[in-house]
Amino acid sequence: MNKDFIISYIEKNKDTFTRVSDSIWERPEVRFDLKESADILIELLEDNEFKIERNVAGMEHAFIASYGSGSPVIGFLGEYDALSNSSQVADATQPIPLVEGGNGHGCGHHALGTGAAAAAIAAKEYLKEYGLKGTIKFFGCPAEEGGSGKAFMARAGVFNGLDSIITWHPMTENKVWDTSSLANFQVYFNFKGISAHAAAAPHLGRSALDAAELMNIGVNYLREHVIDEARIHYAYIDAGGTSPNVVQPTARLLYFIRAPKSYQVKEIYDRIVKIAEGAALMTETELEIKWDSACSEYIINETLGKVMYENMKHLGEIQYSQEELEYAKAYIDTLDKNVKANIEANIKRVFKDLPAEEVKSIASSPIIKKLFPLNMTNKAMPGSTDVGDASYQAPTVQLTAACYPAGTSPHSWQWVACGKSSILHKGMLYAAKAMAMTAVDLLYKKEIIEEAKKEFDERIGENKYFCYIPDSVKPE
Ligand SMILES: [Zn+2]
Repeated sequence: MNKDFIISYIEKNKDTFTRVSDSIWERPEVRFDLKESADILIELLEDNEFKIERNVAGMEHAFIASYGSGSPVIGFLGEYDALSNSSQVADATQPIPLVEGGNGHGCGHHALGTGAAAAAIAAKEYLKEYGLKGTIKFFGCPAEEGGSGKAFMARAGVFNGLDSIITWHPMTENKVWDTSSLANFQVYFNFKGISAHAAAAPHLGRSALDAAELMNIGVNYLREHVIDEARIHYAYIDAGGTSPNVVQPTARLLYFIRAPKSYQVKEIYDRIVKIAEGAALMTETELEIKWDSACSEYIINETLGKVMYENMKHLGEIQYSQEELEYAKAYIDTLDKNVKANIEANIKRVFKDLPAEEVKSIASSPIIKKLFPLNMTNKAMPGSTDVGDASYQAPTVQLTAACYPAGTSPHSWQWVACGKSSILHKGMLYAAKAMAMTAVDLLYKKEIIEEAKKEFDERIGENKYFCYIPDSVKPE
């Protein structure tokens, strides 16, 4: 095994990978509509001898890139969707939209897709160089940010036959992803009533807005009687209009319903449906329920986590120039004082075994360089990801790499601004190396895959994968 091959391959080709990441950043597209971003990655993979299958699982901009044959079959997951209303000038240290109201890469998915593709390409180069058997696949996955593209892909069986899945997410620290995530249903509740003059003929109107409000009140009472870990949030997509003198004939709510396990979400969802039906009954309005998407909780795999952790350790710490540290500091200066205190508290908690001096020095650096200790837990982080649906199909491992200044938050203008910085590029290349090196371990050592699968079966147990999105719901 020669992992230095991976390191030097990625170093040699880093200009290509950073160029790809930057050009996806420059074309921020959202949800399922990702033509240009997908094309950029497809071109990169095609240039590197991958065979492309487009139009996967009914999504025009989902694709699979494959190389090689036989087992093991190792899959890399890549995302490339941006966020709406997040446009921001690169490298600016205050919020300035590049395009007023435009999209922006506020979650680093431009680097996520590119880094995962770089890892797949490096793993393929290794396979070729050393004449090994195996298949490398890269999955182009749309709509992570709302839409749950991977859930639709899992429902269509796209991930079948994989021995392991590897991916990552840009973040503010280097660590193996060590927690589960919350399962999430995203459902619209549409109410239809009868409009009327609110003063002259209110008795003729039936208010859809009243129904929506009564539904929310009912759900707010429900909160006391669900498990502590559940999270229920809603937004008014349509409040019926802007004229108070009209009995509002339409109203539309979008609900996110989350809990540690999908079956728990389903139980809460069924009760919310009863509340919505009750609200419609009370107001004599009609209720229509429309699913947007759903995603499952993430299944961790400690066996693969340990392998990835060793590779991250092997890579050592990313080094930064004084200029890069100052660049990061300028963004930390835009944060609230409490955020800075939180960074220190978090570092103290994570590195509780280190001497106080060292903890202080880690926390005071504008970019957190130190690899977090491996500490995998089944507890769910307070968020959801459609990687959960993929993690039900094969043992899955992810890492996060420091791509942004310490304490800055995903979906912030700061993240968009830093999206083409050398700090982000370094984090992305580090992630690509660690992922490809993990794949090399799996190419050589079948016993790791077997152990990972055993753990996977144990963790899933009776709770087999089920995609709750009704069959009639298509990605849109
Ligand atoms: Zn993200």
